[in-house]
Amino acid sequence: MSARDGGRPRNAKPMSSGTIGSWADGADVIVIGFGVAGASAAVEAAVHGADVLMLERTSGWGGAAALAGGFIYMGGGTPLQKACGFEDTPEDMHAFLTAAMGAGADAAKLAIFAERSVEHFDWLTSCGVPFRAAFYDRPGWEPSGDEGLMYSGGENAYPFAELVRPAPRGHVPQMRNKRTGERGGGYMLMEPLAETVASLGVRIDYDTRFERLVAESDGRVSGVVVTSYGEELVVRARRSVVLAGGGFTFNPDMVARHVPVLTTRAGSATDAHDGQCIRAAQALGADVTHMHACEAAVHTDPALMIRGIVVDGRGTRVINEDTYPGRIGQELVSHHSSQAFIVADEQAVDEAAADRNPSSAFAPPQPAWVSDDVAELEEAAGIPAGALAATLELYNRHAERGADPVHHKATQWVRPLRAPYGLFDLRGATSGFPLGGLRTDIDGAVLDVNNEAIPGLRAAGRTTSGIAAGGYASGCSLAEGSFFGRRAGRAAAHDPPLGASRSSLG
Ligand SMILES: Cc1cc2nc3c(=O)[nH]c(=O)nc-3n(C[C@H](O)[C@H](O)[C@H](O)COP(=O)(O)OP(=O)(O)OC[C@H]3O[C@@H](n4cnc5c(N)ncnc54)[C@H](O)[C@@H]3O)c2cc1C
Repeated sequence: MSARDGGRPRNAKPMSSGTIGSWADGADVIVIGFGVAGASAAVEAAVHGADVLMLERTSGWGGAAALAGGFIYMGGGTPLQKACGFEDTPEDMHAFLTAAMGAGADAAKLAIFAERSVEHFDWLTSCGVPFRAAFYDRPGWEPSGDEGLMYSGGENAYPFAELVRPAPRGHVPQMRNKRTGERGGGYMLMEPLAETVASLGVRIDYDTRFERLVAESDGRVSGVVVTSYGEELVVRARRSVVLAGGGFTFNPDMVARHVPVLTTRAGSATDAHDGQCIRAAQALGADVTHMHACEAAVHTDPALMIRGIVVDGRGTRVINEDTYPGRIGQELVSHHSSQAFIVADEQAVDEAAADRNPSSAFAPPQPAWVSDDVAELEEAAGIPAGALAATLELYNRHAERGADPVHHKATQWVRPLRAPYGLFDLRGATSGFPLGGLRTDIDGAVLDVNNEAIPGLRAAGRTTSGIAAGGYASGCSLAEGSFFGRRAGRAAAHDPPLGASRSSLG
């Protein structure tokens, strides 16, 4: 079990350096975790002259990132966007993110993330991450083939399309023989990054699990306590520790406390995301933020959702179905207790099948009930009598003239639904991961509850709260993990060495 060993919560209390007898071989910068944030931090720390040691609890690199579909959220006019014929600017990207990432999203992070996104694309390609200049224009969770660009945040749908010029920003590394849900573009992000890490002479200790931090009497972090093959070791960090061990998706206690809507719905992470990096920093006074926020997927075919309507357990329509499917998932998880159905007709099913990703590992959705009689469907699904009929009547009335004044689905997807109707059961078909974590500045410095940086401690990736505070777009995690991971690594390489005067540590 990830968060608990033998039923006991793992100790996260910092160890005082004064109590330590012997130290294992250390490094200038110690990076915890060899996923996307850790790899990016290690590369930049090494490039900036630091001696870097990565500590990874599993037996290989990759983390959740290597399992990911591979969307990396970038824009502002990347070469890939241009090659696919799309115009974008950092200002448009910033405006979209500001509207879409949720109230209270970190303004400084949003600003620099948008401003330097093209440079970040160039950095990834300089590390060898491949992209094919092809745009995937059909509804779905991911491109069906090795297309490199897709809308991944609802930029081209209500309400965002009315606020800012739409541009697709979901960049997907090229992956041959891809199988959606099993083998995706995330691997082709991580393999080149892992090769870059190796080429820079970074040392890596696998099967080494970070347990807690070591602190000097003045609070400065000076090392880490790890376990490896049952042995406890203390490793010195001469300049900084970068925590990049993922979030708390698979810490049931933390999920129940902070994001109860995800209880029993954890997904899109590995069980190494057990919250230990967050807890260890918290035990040293670190602040956390946006702990309630989550990404959420709804496990069905977006190509079917877009052609039907999505209703909740009371038969009420939920959202414009042409938006980012993760936004539909967030809406269902956060406001409808994950109780939902798709209502579709035969034409919708046939058109969705034609759009279907042939490489998908998932079976096409099947209706739970089919009937000409809406009352029969309501009874079968436990929807209050007349509620679904009223929803359908309203939708169809406006759809006759191609309009959706209630939720503003784009005209191209609006037409009246005709009997027989299929009701597809989405109750409980959601899962996701928390977006909250350590509060950091744009260079990964971990801030304490007094808003001061904890000396010698930086963090990146899902260990931190990034750009999303309730909203999300596919690709944000890999993008911010690599973007802010790089910045944390670079800053860590320049952190003052242990023994420097206290004033220089501020
Ligand atoms: C199937 C799937 C599809 C996804 N698709 C996308 C997508 O298309 N786009 C997107 O942006 N995101 C996607 N995600 C989410 C994304 O992969 C993660 O949010 C992202 O990888 C987080 O980056 P990270 O560096 O924080 O964590 P990771 O990439 O998981 O790396 C963390 C590393 O730290 C190690 N670690 C953890 N604890 C310790 C410890 N105590 N000691 C030492 N090492 C430790 C882990 O083993 C792991 O290697 C997907 C995830 C999954 C599983």
